[in-house]
Amino acid sequence: MPGPTATHGDILVLGAGIVGICVALHLQKRGRSTVLVDRRGAAEETSFGNAGLIQREGVYPYGFPHDFGALIRYGFNRTIDAYYHPSALPRLAPFLWKYWMYSRPARHAEVARVYSRLIEHCVSEHDALAAEAGAAGFLHRKGWLKVFRTERERDRRFAEAALWHREFGINYRTLDARALQELEPHVAPVLVGALHWTDPVSVDDPHGLAQAYLRAFERLGGRFVQGNAASLEADGRAWRMRTAQGILKANEVVIALGPWADVLTRALGYDLPLAVKRGYHMHYRPAGEAKLEHPMLDTERGYFLAPMRRGIRLTTGAEFALRDAIRTPVQLGRAEPIARDLFPLAERLDTEAWMGARPCTPDMLPVIGRAPRHDSLFFAFGHAHHGLTLGPVTGRLVAEMITGEKPFVDPAPYSPGRF
Ligand SMILES: Cc1cc2nc3c(=O)[nH]c(=O)nc-3n(C[C@H](O)[C@H](O)[C@H](O)COP(=O)(O)OP(=O)(O)OC[C@H]3O[C@@H](n4cnc5c(N)ncnc54)[C@H](O)[C@@H]3O)c2cc1C
Repeated sequence: MPGPTATHGDILVLGAGIVGICVALHLQKRGRSTVLVDRRGAAEETSFGNAGLIQREGVYPYGFPHDFGALIRYGFNRTIDAYYHPSALPRLAPFLWKYWMYSRPARHAEVARVYSRLIEHCVSEHDALAAEAGAAGFLHRKGWLKVFRTERERDRRFAEAALWHREFGINYRTLDARALQELEPHVAPVLVGALHWTDPVSVDDPHGLAQAYLRAFERLGGRFVQGNAASLEADGRAWRMRTAQGILKANEVVIALGPWADVLTRALGYDLPLAVKRGYHMHYRPAGEAKLEHPMLDTERGYFLAPMRRGIRLTTGAEFALRDAIRTPVQLGRAEPIARDLFPLAERLDTEAWMGARPCTPDMLPVIGRAPRHDSLFFAFGHAHHGLTLGPVTGRLVAEMITGEKPFVDPAPYSPGRF
């Protein structure tokens, strides 16, 4: 029975990562009384420590490699961009098999066509929220660099960029070694060139940006409370759950629990094929007067450097492991000496590596829309490598679906019912 403290909101949004915050903000903007719930503070999990890119160029979601050489390299488990826990493979195998199937070149191209309809709005939707939240200072418009050590890889990626430009209107510049050196004078002269994606925006403090969106939500009258989503229960046609501020009741619920979404969806009777790709970060002080002007992917080595407010953030690629398995920052250990040779990094600024878990689906599309068997339940998770990129797009789409507005993007391809 609800206690004397039971309160009622129109909508509960479960999970205050970047996705849940954007959903809650868009609902509150539309006059819905919204309560955002998290068991921790806002944006303290995956949305805390990502690489900060709003990837306007990211029309092809990251697929499972299909070339033989890469598979052999990954098989030895010695690369930097991907690492796996051998003990997790039996549990991950069904997911990996589906992921492999969706990544076949023809299928991947179909996925990209659907995915690009979300991606095309990522910068404009962030711009709109950032303007309202007074957070435009977090956004930087220099694009980002994919740097190359071999002509073979450089030419392959230049050709790919030309294709994406023709097909999706993605803009880029090609840089030879000299042009790159002029743009990034502190990077060691070991590179043969770079691809400069000019449309994307970078965020120099993803946690700060999410907090600014949360404050905008609260200024509009939204409430953020602490509570465990596991206590959610159906209450007739409505919902209720326990929070630090007593029992909350609501007509509708949005699950935006990122990598933990499956814990609740399974309890509600949904068997979704979700898995995680874990990733790590570490900050470094730049040595002396060295300055990194652009975020940069060392493409053939497989790690990323991003200039952040806190220092240079090194982020790692995909770790295939169970979400709650012990942390193993092997890729960070492998990347650090290589990064130090590329850019003058001084001491580490964090006492230990941060870890996040990218919430992934095998078809590389997020799960956005009404739950197939509950009219008043909505899903907003599975944003994998692009949760920061797509948070505001998903937020708007979910809010439009709930309030009965015409969705600005056709939501059908992302529907939970597709599984
Ligand atoms: C190394 C790395 C680099 C990345 N770089 C980029 C990038 O450059 N650009 C980009 O777009 N994306 C990037 N990503 C991906 C991006 O960070 C994620 O897609 C995004 O943060 C997911 O957001 P979310 O809100 O879905 O999940 P989360 O941020 O994880 O939020 C889920 C929330 O649910 C809460 N929660 C969980 N269980 C419960 C419960 N039982 N009760 C209440 N609350 C609960 C958690 O506390 C958490 O706050 C990167 C990820 C990693 C790991």
